[in-house]
Amino acid sequence: MTAPVTRFAPSPSGHLHVGGARTALFCWAFARGRGGRFLLRIEDTDQKRSSGAASVGFLKDLAWLGIDWDEGPEHAGCGGGSNGPYFQSERLDLYGRILRQLVDEGKAYYAFDTAAELESRRAEAKAAGRAYRYDGSSQMALPKAEVERRLAAGEPAVIRLKCPPQPITIKDEILGEATLPAGEVDDFVLRKADGFPTYHFAVVVDDELMGVTHVLRAQEHFNNTAKHMLLQDALGCRRPTYGHFSIITNPDGSKMSKRDKDKLLRKTVTDRKLTAPPAGTVPQARWDAWLGDKNAQLDFEEANALADALGISLPEINVDDFRRSGYLPEVICNFLALNGWSPGNDIEKFDMQFMKERFDLKRVVKTPAKFDRAKLLSFNCDAITGMPREEFVRRARAHGTGFHPAFMARLTPAQFEQLAGASHERSKTLDEMFRSNRFLTMADAELAWERTKSVEKALLGPEPSGLGHLKALLPLLEAQGDWSAPALEAAIGAYAQAHAEGNLGKVAQPLRVGVSGGTVSPPIFDTLAILGKESTLARLRRCVSAFGG
Ligand code: GLU
Repeated sequence: MTAPVTRFAPSPSGHLHVGGARTALFCWAFARGRGGRFLLRIEDTDQKRSSGAASVGFLKDLAWLGIDWDEGPEHAGCGGGSNGPYFQSERLDLYGRILRQLVDEGKAYYAFDTAAELESRRAEAKAAGRAYRYDGSSQMALPKAEVERRLAAGEPAVIRLKCPPQPITIKDEILGEATLPAGEVDDFVLRKADGFPTYHFAVVVDDELMGVTHVLRAQEHFNNTAKHMLLQDALGCRRPTYGHFSIITNPDGSKMSKRDKDKLLRKTVTDRKLTAPPAGTVPQARWDAWLGDKNAQLDFEEANALADALGISLPEINVDDFRRSGYLPEVICNFLALNGWSPGNDIEKFDMQFMKERFDLKRVVKTPAKFDRAKLLSFNCDAITGMPREEFVRRARAHGTGFHPAFMARLTPAQFEQLAGASHERSKTLDEMFRSNRFLTMADAELAWERTKSVEKALLGPEPSGLGHLKALLPLLEAQGDWSAPALEAAIGAYAQAHAEGNLGKVAQPLRVGVSGGTVSPPIFDTLAILGKESTLARLRRCVSAFGG
């Protein structure tokens, strides 16, 4: 076999979905493991849905995952190549030339049917109980001179391929063979009335010109393959090998869709009977429209801001969601690969090198893959706790700089290192330490205490109560000079020895509640050291007065 060329060809209509990321990963592994090339092409010919910003987002997401491309748009050291441009919107002249040639050769034709005409024929077929097939005979019969006159007059027209009525057999390396009966594919559109090529036309032309040998893509395109094959025949193109990957679903079989986020947000807002949007999240008018229409969707930033304000985590759908939630790119790739493929021998944990060596279409499954978030989280946790401490600190810092700049600005590099070091072992994601330690960076005057049983137990238990210990500790801490974690441990340990029967927990837990507002924090002496003397004392004094000390 000659070295394969695969491609990932996203339409940049939003953020890179996990399903798309998996397609890219499989294409990458297939080509790279066989000495071939992996190419990236942006299919941005749908004027309404494409945006430049979305394309850049796709490139960033792929680069972050470590799925690098040999040819394609240039980004982060990837891309370039002699078969560009790699944005379809920059290839319009080329498409135009090929389309004209097809028309001149009589393999394609202009069609002037209006939307209303097409609709009424569709309705007629439906009423008669027939499947609708486009019939282009009247358009094909138009004299050339009339076609030219109407085009020159600016009448809207599409270009359609003349599809011979013959059965078509699709050979798919994953799904097997399927034969469509003759006439199943009608004369489909190659160029839209706005002058842009259709997906079908551009994909076939580009796969040919870019030397793609293996078209590996999502199952939703399986039926399109018949159209592509007919067009390849008309153009005299090679036939690439095809393989279609099944979809990735939620565990209940439903589609993993952006709507899942709106569903959870809507439910939370309704359960909490919120009528106005939390400050700084969604403008009131948007909020009203969103609440009033259960199909309306918030955009990416709005949904995240609202989730943060509500203190909930949204289900991750796009690569960027997983990054924001603190998943490691190598874990995402490992886990995605298992959604639809397995290397066998019960091997579950592997890296990109292994994937490259072992990936094979024969072990790709035909059935939908169920995305198990709990398993992903446990993979992520294993990877985080298994990495050296310095690496965790470095990666947590990069995560914080990207997603929690205000938090980072409140801590010195040394404080951050201490916090990250203390959080390493208990972290399942890179994000957790930022979420659970918000108390560290809030103003002392803003700290509020949860009124839960465990908080009350820590402070208001039988004498000597936690609150009593805090009161006794205050003058000691005021006099404390060295505020490092070991010095605090020595001083507070000595206090516990003398006044709490040596039981440090009896003193540490009230301190934790006093400075954090709740019962969970990094190890207590690290926490106090990071907070510093002034904040620690201010919080403990407020706590004592809040609980009636
Ligand atoms: N642009 C298409 C999409 O984003 C993919 C086309 C293909 O792989 O053939 O779904």
